[in-house]
Amino acid sequence: MIIKEHRDEILSYLEDSSNFSKGNCEKVFIPENEQEVIEIVNMCNAQNMPLTVSGAGTGTVGGRIPTQGSVISVEKLNRIINIEKDRAVLQAGTIVNNFLAEIDKIGSFYPPFPTERNAFIGGNVSTNASGEYSFRFGATRKYVLRVKMVTGAGNVIEIPRGKFFADKNGVIKTDFLTVKIPSYITPPIKCSAGYFSSPGMDLIDLIIGSEGTLGVITEVEVMLIKKLPDRFIMIFFLPSEDRMFEFINEVKQKFIKDMYTFEFFDNASLFFLRNDFPEIPENCCAFYIESTDTTELMERWLELSEKYNAIDVWVGGDPKSYQKLIDFRHRLPENINAYFRKLKITKISLDIAVPEKNFRELVTLYRKFSRESGIQTVLFGHIGENHLHFNLFPVDEKERNIARQIYLSCVEKAISLGGTIAAEHGIGKIKYPYLRMMYGDGGINDMIMIKKTFDPKGLIGRDNLFPAELLFQK
Ligand SMILES: Cc1cc2nc3c(=O)[nH]c(=O)nc-3n(C[C@H](O)[C@H](O)[C@H](O)COP(=O)(O)OP(=O)(O)OC[C@H]3O[C@@H](n4cnc5c(N)ncnc54)[C@H](O)[C@@H]3O)c2cc1C
Repeated sequence: MIIKEHRDEILSYLEDSSNFSKGNCEKVFIPENEQEVIEIVNMCNAQNMPLTVSGAGTGTVGGRIPTQGSVISVEKLNRIINIEKDRAVLQAGTIVNNFLAEIDKIGSFYPPFPTERNAFIGGNVSTNASGEYSFRFGATRKYVLRVKMVTGAGNVIEIPRGKFFADKNGVIKTDFLTVKIPSYITPPIKCSAGYFSSPGMDLIDLIIGSEGTLGVITEVEVMLIKKLPDRFIMIFFLPSEDRMFEFINEVKQKFIKDMYTFEFFDNASLFFLRNDFPEIPENCCAFYIESTDTTELMERWLELSEKYNAIDVWVGGDPKSYQKLIDFRHRLPENINAYFRKLKITKISLDIAVPEKNFRELVTLYRKFSRESGIQTVLFGHIGENHLHFNLFPVDEKERNIARQIYLSCVEKAISLGGTIAAEHGIGKIKYPYLRMMYGDGGINDMIMIKKTFDPKGLIGRDNLFPAELLFQK
């Protein structure tokens, strides 16, 4: 086991991809096997020392940043234990990119990986990550077959999918614990807000998306599918957003079974890509689509582009142009973050998704705020899943106050429309007030009871999902 205690060795564990800046910790433990994980958790229990689980630190909500106590980093638990055509067993610290490269060699594919492929598989399971293919294949949850975890109490538990279910009273009984699932129901859309809950649910789904609050995941078994067939990417540059919903509806009606990815970039987002891709037309918005590669389909897509008066259409068919368009998609979040970091402007970013029938209403609200607030905004992301990232960049305190108000209004709207306040990035240490708005005090109390079942002393992942002091209220 490696133990880091010097300030300069610890600093990198006090950050992730969020702006959360209250990181503080005494030690970083880096175990090299499960036995060492157990020892660390037991020692923390004996000393009443809070322990925060760290993956690769690519999270965007401060989840792996400790506020007190110590960190356990799974970076050395990085072994690919076994790979078969349809499944793989991985230690939690396996880097997603390495895993994808290995399974590619045997013609298999793991669909839910996030855009950030330096993340660890354990981090992906803990946040229920989703990515460019989740429009077609769903999020991480759907692919997790088994989880092995050292609970906050120091017990090793192994949960295969399909073994432990909630009964009609919402109670899951096993030989190692009895737990009552939350009384709320997680909206049946892309969602990473709080513990998953659904009548008759499988225990494994409580662990997936629990953001390091129940224990240290050491090993996961995931389902693989066959390598995808040949595909091309197209980017349609449309002259305005006026016919956006007409376009979305037509695409979904006519092409959905052949599509893999369906993303959107507004004109303001394209600004951040022009340095890398100077040929992007002016004054337009873009739809990014990955489709099965057939001549017949290509012709139908081009007909569609004519119907909507596309200013330009880019096609990535051969490996080089395909990769160029993948880069187009991936560069945006990085470029936006780099640009505003330089200007020392902190973005306020929404991660809301709503049911399809209410999506237009939410986008109309975003557009009203972009027009009326005077604050610089961008709108981009997973339009196929009714999930766009609406980012605001306030330049001073006055704008920051307005942006916070806008955030609140959008959250209220999303909840009223049956949506989620966190579709893929989770809650971490920064979105508790909105989680509370979504599920109420009753829902938060249900989560606290669950946490105490796995972690009676409330030591693991403190301040994730809800503030630690709520755990100790009488
Ligand atoms: C440029 C960029 C693009 C991104 N794109 C996407 C995207 O497309 N989709 C998406 O969903 N996310 C995306 N993210 C967010 C991030 O990549 C995911 O949330 C990812 O799953 C985090 O994994 P990680 O290993 O970095 O976890 P960390 O950031 O280290 O931790 C995240 C949370 O998981 C917990 N955790 C980590 N490992 C374990 C473990 N072994 N046991 C228990 N708890 C654990 C931590 O305590 C923390 O609460 C993006 C981030 C960036 C910077």
